[in-house]
Amino acid sequence: METYRIGPIRPPSEAASLLLQVTQGCTWNKCKFCNLYRHTRFRAYTIDSIKEDIDRMALYAQKALKNKREDGTWDVDRINEELSAMPQEQQNCYYVVAMWLLNGGKSVFLQDGNTLALSGGKLTEVLVYLRKVFPQIERITSYGRAENLSRVSAQEFAELKAAGLDRIHSGYESGSDEVLKLANKGVTAQQQIIAGQNIKAGGLELSVYFMPGLGGRALSRQNAEGMANVVSQVNPDFVRIRTAAVKPGTELYEDYERGDFVLCSDDEKAMEIRTLITETKGVDTRIVSDHIVNLLQAVKGSLTTDKEKMLRIIDDYLELPERERKLFQIARRLGHVISLKEMPRLSPAGRAKFEQLVDETPDDSQWNEKMNALIGRYI
Ligand code: SF4
Repeated sequence: METYRIGPIRPPSEAASLLLQVTQGCTWNKCKFCNLYRHTRFRAYTIDSIKEDIDRMALYAQKALKNKREDGTWDVDRINEELSAMPQEQQNCYYVVAMWLLNGGKSVFLQDGNTLALSGGKLTEVLVYLRKVFPQIERITSYGRAENLSRVSAQEFAELKAAGLDRIHSGYESGSDEVLKLANKGVTAQQQIIAGQNIKAGGLELSVYFMPGLGGRALSRQNAEGMANVVSQVNPDFVRIRTAAVKPGTELYEDYERGDFVLCSDDEKAMEIRTLITETKGVDTRIVSDHIVNLLQAVKGSLTTDKEKMLRIIDDYLELPERERKLFQIARRLGHVISLKEMPRLSPAGRAKFEQLVDETPDDSQWNEKMNALIGRYI
């Protein structure tokens, strides 16, 4: 069987989605904290080649569906046998489609980093064809870069919605012009607001991303206040928290090594989320924490009804003695606990190991470097 393209990333919330690559790479490719597509030249695939990929997915789907029993259960053993008889590249394609169907086969994510770079007409044709081939699809989502999105009108978004696009994920990261400039995002807060308002006016769902710590210590407060302002003006459906990690190989890491960028501590990042929650006004946005890089994963909920609950979780953490906060940071970063409530369940040996790690690193900047390296492993 012919293979189809599969791009490198998707949001965690799209784990059960079929991945359809309509573009490759990122049109901007210059954000200082990101090297995901640094060695990938951007290209938009032709309509014919995208349709060909959809047709190939349909063939894999037909093959998988032969293993669905009349009572709705699946012969997973048979699918595994079929997988092991295939060459590696076909295996990947078959596995993705089979898993998608086993999970209900309801959602599709369009890859890569900036699908909205495809002209509206082209994207509409892709959406219509995709829904024709897979009529059971209930949701199609995509990444879009805010600067590109700001040049699309509410009417054009409404047309994309009518063609079948349901949600746009956009890495706003910050709402502060100073931080956006520092990170070289190539977009302004005003463009983010225009983009977000047009997406919402066009009837699409909007999921934006916020990166606590992206402004470093110098711009920590601006990072949070700017995001609160943008969120207040846009009322996105979701704000997804993605704690900043400064990774070797990025320009931001070079800034850090030169001493031009000072890492925020976990406490400062928690304060940024606190500020975002307290300063955002008049929206029914949901805060989502669906990534292991976030220290306080339990901070999630509605900015209308759950503010107090979310602030309590942050304050419970911030009110701990410094040593306890550090013990939680390292236990969380090493995957031993998910929440503060789990700390008493650490074994005496586990706790002693973490106590030793805290004692070995009394210097705060070295500690922050250690935490940064640990969360960087997850990205
Ligand atoms: S727009 Fe997104 S994918 Fe492109 S360089 Fe920036 S963070 Fe990376």
